[in-house]
Amino acid sequence: MIGSSILSIIYLVGSVTFILGLKMLSRPDTARKGNLVAAAGMLLAILGTIFLYRVNGEPLHNLGWIFAALAIGSIAGVSAARKVKMTAMPEMVSLFNGMGGACAALISIIEFAHYPLMDGMVVIMLLSLVIGAVSCAGSIIAYGKLAGKIKDFSFNGQHIVNLLILGAIVILSVLLFTGLSSAAVTALFYTICALSLVYGVLFVLPIGGADMPVVISLLNSFTGVAAACGGFLYDNPVMLTGGILVGSAGTILTILMCNAMNRSLKNVLIGSFGGATAAAGGGGEQGHYREISLSDTAVVLAYANKVIVVPGYGLAVAQAQHAVHELEKLLEDRGVTVKYAIHPVAGRMPGHMNVLLAEADVPYEKLLEMEDANNELATADAVLILGANDVVNPAAKTNPASPIYGMPILEVENAKAVIVNKRSMKPGYAGIENELFFQPKTSMLFGDARKVLQDLAAAVKEV
Ligand code: NDP
Repeated sequence: MIGSSILSIIYLVGSVTFILGLKMLSRPDTARKGNLVAAAGMLLAILGTIFLYRVNGEPLHNLGWIFAALAIGSIAGVSAARKVKMTAMPEMVSLFNGMGGACAALISIIEFAHYPLMDGMVVIMLLSLVIGAVSCAGSIIAYGKLAGKIKDFSFNGQHIVNLLILGAIVILSVLLFTGLSSAAVTALFYTICALSLVYGVLFVLPIGGADMPVVISLLNSFTGVAAACGGFLYDNPVMLTGGILVGSAGTILTILMCNAMNRSLKNVLIGSFGGATAAAGGGGEQGHYREISLSDTAVVLAYANKVIVVPGYGLAVAQAQHAVHELEKLLEDRGVTVKYAIHPVAGRMPGHMNVLLAEADVPYEKLLEMEDANNELATADAVLILGANDVVNPAAKTNPASPIYGMPILEVENAKAVIVNKRSMKPGYAGIENELFFQPKTSMLFGDARKVLQDLAAAVKEV
């Protein structure tokens, strides 16, 4: 009795830490602490469940198995998190998300045998099975695509096949309740699970271009909903709260991402975007580009009134966040106003550039969100693009055949001069040519971003 009261308090504390943690995650300066607070709440909830939860008055058995599984999971999680490079974080998040979906589906598979069919909980189990399996398969495909191990794949009529699979899942779920033999019910249940896995694969496979962020965030919200179903099933408030928070935060992020990418949620749900091939972006080189030397770049920047820096994935690859902050301070000391234009999907995860620049202590007020940046770009004497490509590609506005057509971009061409730093003329994530690089206002400054920025800082001191 006392144990169950203590467990209720533990669950309450756990739920509060999730909410507080999530709130703290919304600011770069408190995010690290927020993560720890929520993790501590999760640990408390897990230990409370193991030691205080009672099934028909009995404590949990198989503690050896439980702790062995916890140890394996913890060792794998900690070592993966320690080893992962910042640029590979989205892959890892995707993989972990897939594990969450798999857990939800496995819970349903295990519990299905323990409930009579007419129990209302079976509907919750089915939801958890379908959503968890879609999320698991979809997240693993998303992981493969982000890691470059799986290529985009689509075939004619894929949307129709996707819709047919969804329809079949619904029909088979209804059939479960029509008084079939128990062997037939079991066969149907596993067929639903298999179809959900296939749907997860087909739903994510064709998505390419620059649309992966939306899908990752959507899959994340699916896992949250599947976990919340598990909370219902076990009447476990902390699992329910955690699931609801992940589900709703993921949904809000999905909507924000859709707005940022100018995609409708309906298109995301039936997997109908991003199927255009990279070549549709306007393959082939589009003429001549102009190169600029380090010393000329230093002069342009040092004599500017305002410089706007556009960070992208390449800045993260080069780990050049400290170097760009050093250059920014040098320019500011000379009276140049320096700001950063942050595109919502720059880099490889939501908020990637904010996290990267916060790591180097770049003041938060120097960061402009896309809309504000687009209002200010015309007043900049120079734009310095550091390892960004898709987020400044004008094809998003001008080429309806481009896979990124419709995505709002940073309108850098409105500035007086555009300097692009990257290592080569290779495309970015969407795999398409960027006509910005061939425009008369644009100059290319080739090289690894960190080395270029360090050399630029030295050159600015000489000006
Ligand atoms: P892009 O991927 O479009 O381009 C990055 C550029 O950086 C490349 O063209 C590359 O050119 C250059 N680069 C790579 N390494 C270096 C280096 N060491 N030094 C200098 N340059 C380097 O990046 P963006 O940030 O512009 O766009 C992000 C893309 O990723 C979008 O398409 C977005 O949709 C997608 N995406 C975003 C996610 C998110 O949540 N933010 C998640 C998944 C995908 P080169 O090789 O010539 O150097």
